[in-house]
Amino acid sequence: MSKSKTIGVLGGGQLAKMLCDSAKKMGYTSVILDPSSDACGKFSANLHLIKDYTDEKSLKEISELSGVITYEFENVPIESVEIIEKIGGNIPQGKTPLYLSQHRIREKNAVRDLGVKTAKYKQVSNIKDLKEALNEIGVPAILKTCSGGYDGKGQWKIKSESDLNNIKLESKEYILEEMVNFEKEVSCLVVRGTSGEVVNFPIGENIHKNGILNLTVVPAEISKRLEEKIIENSKKIIEKLGIVGPLGIEFFIAEEEIYFNEMAPRPHNSAHYTMDACNYSQFDIHLRAILGEKIPKIKLLKNVVMLNILGEDKEKLEKIQKSKKGIVHIYGKNSWEIGRKMGHVNFCGNDIDKLIELAKSF
Ligand code: AMP
Repeated sequence: MSKSKTIGVLGGGQLAKMLCDSAKKMGYTSVILDPSSDACGKFSANLHLIKDYTDEKSLKEISELSGVITYEFENVPIESVEIIEKIGGNIPQGKTPLYLSQHRIREKNAVRDLGVKTAKYKQVSNIKDLKEALNEIGVPAILKTCSGGYDGKGQWKIKSESDLNNIKLESKEYILEEMVNFEKEVSCLVVRGTSGEVVNFPIGENIHKNGILNLTVVPAEISKRLEEKIIENSKKIIEKLGIVGPLGIEFFIAEEEIYFNEMAPRPHNSAHYTMDACNYSQFDIHLRAILGEKIPKIKLLKNVVMLNILGEDKEKLEKIQKSKKGIVHIYGKNSWEIGRKMGHVNFCGNDIDKLIELAKSF
């Protein structure tokens, strides 16, 4: 493994796996750090360091082996990045994107301060705060833990004040948000290179099932005005916050207005469609950005619907494979648990309605 041709990844899940696949395609080797010996990234990485994210010896090893280091999830400890920076490892994204996206209030404050609209929100840490915040924001509202929640976990919908009786706050920070009566949920993946250039991928419409992404439809069926506004705001967020690398940004659309929901400084599930429908995938562009290479303009080559395959979808997957109608990506995870993301399928073509129908037909 030559250092200048090796990518290091903190985290070894499916996003790391697909990053390592892209790296291989580009002539790079890769090393992942993940404490789980089962991490599916090991199937594509050249080396898997099975150690904690803050294990200094392993951070030293990954820094010595890799010309550039990145992360595949936003909850990588900030301390890991600090250690890598201290020992001279090259981690161009740094810790700012993690610092912001690890805490919903920090993230929303930063984005709101740029003039991007969000739902009304307030930080709460006890039941008294919660009652006051609910008075101000009104119902319906949604309560979320500030850190650590994903795929709808750590969230409570509050439809009336009496719902408060069912909520037991732990001693941590929460955010209470106004519930946006949205017509659509969309996301835009933007990527910024080390030299500051920014590209955007096409906007996708996201359809969730039980709080987990089910389908992404691309291009999203939205007005030109909204499309431009989403791209402009997404570019503004990544530029003004000085973020390098990928940033997946989710918005709600209600009454021809956009509301920022959340962002993640990593490849995004809703942009897996790029693997088969664009001239470059989000993983290819992530790597080019952190390597300091010139970032090509992104083109959507065909319409696409991405379907997530979860642990309960084994039979569905078999039917899809038999039909040969979609491009199947399976991550190689060992156990098929309910709600666990096991793979995804891209259905590409022209007629978007037919693609949605096809994706739903299995
Ligand atoms: P999040 O983890 O913030 O992405 O929330 C998970 C899902 O909950 C979102 O995809 C929405 O469907 C829903 N949700 C979250 N926040 C709000 C909100 N303020 N208004 C309406 N729906 C929301």
